[in-house]
Amino acid sequence: MSNYTREKQQVVETAQHLVERGYLMATGGNLSIRIARRNAFAVTPSNYDYDQMTPDDVCLLDFDLNVIEGARKPSVESALHAGVYVTRADVNAVVHTHQVYASTLALINAPIPALFDEQVRFLGRSVEIIPYAPSGTGFLKNAIVKHIKNHNNAYILQNHGALCFGHDLERAAHNVEILEKCALAYLLTLCTERKISKIPLPIREIAFAKLRKDQKKVERGEIGASGE
Ligand SMILES: [Zn+2]
Repeated sequence: MSNYTREKQQVVETAQHLVERGYLMATGGNLSIRIARRNAFAVTPSNYDYDQMTPDDVCLLDFDLNVIEGARKPSVESALHAGVYVTRADVNAVVHTHQVYASTLALINAPIPALFDEQVRFLGRSVEIIPYAPSGTGFLKNAIVKHIKNHNNAYILQNHGALCFGHDLERAAHNVEILEKCALAYLLTLCTERKISKIPLPIREIAFAKLRKDQKKVERGEIGASGE
């Protein structure tokens, strides 16, 4: 019996919830949760159907990608997840999806500006595009690590998909939903070819300051990963 069954259970439940809502398909994408007391993370296995997944299928890795627990092959994007946890002390959960609307913006290289208060409050000042690098490579991990220091919680991966963070998995999954709503609204707006209205800059800064305040609490350990 693993000491981390609760965290692994959360990974499975969140993955299945995101499949139900259409943000993850069959085996695409991957997600993880930080295990703070072990300097490790629990991540979905590679190429394994979310509907079949149980907590025993979830892999536990340290940040050097050594397998601590789990018989299955860990996600091919495990290095990316480790890179995020090492770089961002305020992030305790990472969700990578191929969600359709954000992925469409990834094809036209269109970052999402500050359109809604809720967007900035939870995703950051804007949703930037991280330049293309092939899946499962150190190039992709390095590109991501380089871009995430601005403390945004959602990014679009050029010609690939999306990446969302949270102080726990529930928040990261909710950020996936906010991102998709914003991506769809932005795409539709681009189609109208009308002038796009953004939220006023001072409001953007107030909303982002609230996000940073929460993140600093996580960095100080005042808000932990879910269930801790
Ligand atoms: Zn992917």
